[in-house]
Amino acid sequence: MPTARKVGRISTPREAGRMPALREGGSAKLPARAEEPLAERKRRAERIIAELKKLYPQADCALHHGSALELLIATILSAQSTDETVNKVTPVLFERYPTAEALAEADPADVERIVHSTGFFRQKTKSIIGACKKIVEAFGGKVPDSMEALIQLPGVARKTANVVLGTWFRKDEGVVVDTHIGRLAHRLGLTWTSKNDKDAVKIEQDLMEVLPRDEWTYTGHALIWHGRRVCTARKPRCGACALSGLCPSAFTFEG
Ligand code: SF4
Repeated sequence: MPTARKVGRISTPREAGRMPALREGGSAKLPARAEEPLAERKRRAERIIAELKKLYPQADCALHHGSALELLIATILSAQSTDETVNKVTPVLFERYPTAEALAEADPADVERIVHSTGFFRQKTKSIIGACKKIVEAFGGKVPDSMEALIQLPGVARKTANVVLGTWFRKDEGVVVDTHIGRLAHRLGLTWTSKNDKDAVKIEQDLMEVLPRDEWTYTGHALIWHGRRVCTARKPRCGACALSGLCPSAFTFEG
């Protein structure tokens, strides 16, 4: 797995002289989400990507994997769980069941025991075994590399398919929208038709419209990293955020 550049304290845009004037209430002088013309939003998105590349030049998937099958299964297990928990479980699972054929024939009780700590272990076991059966029966034991085929697998929807296509097959077919990306898309004004940060379908459509296609996968990874390190759900650190001059929500959380 590629490793990230260590992120120390990020110099504030205010310190670096890149911060625009603040309006009353403390937020940067940027248009509200719905008002911003698409061309301007696209330009701002490109500048956001450029900043993210400085911060996280090697942002990649944090789920450990060595094949498309391992990534698919790790992504199924990551629902409602943390990458750290999944990364503890998958080496045991893949050593015991190294192929789609082996997992297709696995005893569900044994798989449930191994993946128990990731939560929703019965449903996840069903999805893993069901997906592997389909991979063996319909795709010759190989994880398919198209959206159309991937979403036929039990337990695999667009989000999981996007992870596998973008990260393993390097195909930008869509944008992954998880909890971090949903939140950051809203705060950064990169979605304008979605009702809230759980509205994954609309958020993905907006991100696909505003981001250059060859950046869909990278931007997804980088936003997850930024959401974990700086723009956290409860306490976004706008004062330490290199994106604050580009973010319509900057400093709106601080008292
Ligand atoms: S930390 Fe603040 S400035 Fe940075 S992206 Fe989040 S809301 Fe915007």
